[in-house]
Amino acid sequence: MRSPIPDFLDETLERHRHDRSGAMADYIPDLAAADPNKLAISISTLDGVLYDSGDSDFEFSIQSMSKPFIYGIALEALGIPAVLDKVGVEPTGEAFNELSLDKTSGKPLNPMINAGAITIHSLLGGQNATLAERTEIVRAGLSRFAGRQLRVDEHIAAGEWQQAYRNIAIANMLRSYDVITDDPDEVVQGYINQCSVLVSVRDLAMMAATLAGGGVNPITGERVLSPRVNRQVLGVMMTCGMYDAAGDWMTEVGVPAKSGVSGGLFGVLPGQVGIATYSPKLDKHGTSVRGAKIFRSLSADLGLHIMNAPEPARSIIRRDRRFVDAKGDMVRIVSLQGLIQWSGAENVMREIASPDDAIDVFALDLRRVYSINEVARRMIVEALRRLGEEGKQVVLLDPENSMGCSGPASALPGVEILESPKQLRNLDLRGLRRVRDDFADQVS
Ligand code: GLU
Repeated sequence: MRSPIPDFLDETLERHRHDRSGAMADYIPDLAAADPNKLAISISTLDGVLYDSGDSDFEFSIQSMSKPFIYGIALEALGIPAVLDKVGVEPTGEAFNELSLDKTSGKPLNPMINAGAITIHSLLGGQNATLAERTEIVRAGLSRFAGRQLRVDEHIAAGEWQQAYRNIAIANMLRSYDVITDDPDEVVQGYINQCSVLVSVRDLAMMAATLAGGGVNPITGERVLSPRVNRQVLGVMMTCGMYDAAGDWMTEVGVPAKSGVSGGLFGVLPGQVGIATYSPKLDKHGTSVRGAKIFRSLSADLGLHIMNAPEPARSIIRRDRRFVDAKGDMVRIVSLQGLIQWSGAENVMREIASPDDAIDVFALDLRRVYSINEVARRMIVEALRRLGEEGKQVVLLDPENSMGCSGPASALPGVEILESPKQLRNLDLRGLRRVRDDFADQVS
């Protein structure tokens, strides 16, 4: 079978190809001269499969789409509190190049507007790092997200520098308030180099998928951001990534995203995909017109809105059975299934927390569970501990070690952990009538 996904992407591009509305960015000469007809899309899954259509190898400058990635790199290098000390996380509802600082704290409001991004750039490599050093930190850092070596287009950078009055004004404002402490011109030059790194939609989709995967590049397997920093970056992108169009974007499209004045746009659906589009004509917010329309249709067609409430999780309790064994002890075997998060663990708690449960042996069967998050794991450990405290014999059937507690450093003292159903034999379950139905094949 030929996968229908590339055909779907081709059709999506064709539906929007005729749209010629919008204007080219005119304050950066190379962007003003770009081919307005170029159109591309790429989607990267979290296991590194790329689907694309259109001019997907065409390279353009990353511009403001560099901001979330460089924010992540600065957070990793300096730690979250030190960066928050310099740049806030509040959406502004203002244009990207607004000369604004928070009235009370005197800090740039967020790292997605230029004032914040220029400040973040100035933190790279520590105080007094050179222009060349910061440029290399940026180039190498963005390359890790892309999974290949990217480069700065010096021609684009030189053109932007010629017209950089607004960004130079912002940097001087930041310097006058001691938000940045280095030479403002040099910081702006470095920031412009950052904006001039060349990427294709394939690179951007891969970079987006790195964020979607919690900070791990799907191809190289390299952890680029820690989970906590990755979450910080996505949170800021979600609220501030689309500047003064953030509310409309979030309600209509519902995919945390970042645009750039080159016409690129990328979106991140955590745990699912990274998506990128390219089309150079921009709307009044500086976002690609066709790119935004493609995101709108993808979000609707593929059900990508992050606020679509998932179907209430089907019961994670697959079976809950009671037996009387040969000794006359009451044995309860609860079998769970699927993905267990807080709400699932709450469900389990509720089921097993009946005070009048006259059981002697409690067995929790996790063989059909494919993932348990940290919170659910802690809740279940606590429940098992309490059952043990009540004098019940507790058994965990967990051959895949989903609970992460087999081995000598078991987090469950007093709990018997079985790695194979065969070990159920050691329990005195042989006399159970119903065990023959459910476990007979594996026990015997
Ligand atoms: N280099 C551009 C600037 O700072 C980036 C703006 C954008 O892509 O939104 O003006």
